Amino acid sequence: MAGELYRDVGVVLRTYKLGESDRIVVIMTAENGKVRAVAKGVRKTRSKFGARLEPMSHVRLLLYRGRELDIVSQAETVEPLSPMLSSLDRASQGMAAIEAVDQLGLEREPNPQLYRMTVGVLRTIAERPAALNVPAFYWKLLRAEGLEPQLDACVRCGEGEPETDLVAFDLNEGGVQCRSCRTGSSITQPALGLMRDIFGGRLAHALSMQESPATHEVGALATRALEHHIERRLKAVAMFERH
Ligand SMILES: [Zn+2]
Repeated sequence: MAGELYRDVGVVLRTYKLGESDRIVVIMTAENGKVRAVAKGVRKTRSKFGARLEPMSHVRLLLYRGRELDIVSQAETVEPLSPMLSSLDRASQGMAAIEAVDQLGLEREPNPQLYRMTVGVLRTIAERPAALNVPAFYWKLLRAEGLEPQLDACVRCGEGEPETDLVAFDLNEGGVQCRSCRTGSSITQPALGLMRDIFGGRLAHALSMQESPATHEVGALATRALEHHIERRLKAVAMFERH
């Protein structure tokens, strides 16, 4: 299949150096999954791609399919997302979002939903660097992977008054726990309220929240949940490969 030309659109997740003047670009594409491609000559000052292939760039591409690495033949900007992401707040949120996409996206395995979510979160961040942009995105990624935490009743016994009795969250069990069943780490009522907003169709409300201890709590839990999921998936793949 080497040499076949194809078109796609994607978001640049990461780039790294290759040799003297080339760069490898990792792109979450709409139709071809995560693609690793060589952009020749990008590190020369008069490169035809230059700034178009920086992380968070949304680009329309013409690529040659290679055995391991594809080759970028053309790259055009779809929309100028990266300049909007130039403030430090926005840039660090954008980087946190695309790092997670990089970890979840599988090479050459089409995942149009992940591509759409990536574009969506970068637009949201570019518009407003809300405290819960990245945590809400992580939870949505997990939901897209089939993991939706149980938030309204204890994950063990099914009991518990949502407003008072649910006091902990256990990542292994995938939800909240009451006082008598608790094995997970503490979660406060305000944080649980924000989680219910994110999963219950009140995302706009969650994103309107100012930074607070509760938003930090939801953020820390989202990061741990994502890491937990990725680690478990890596282990599952390793196990699969051994057999
Ligand atoms: Zn219980």
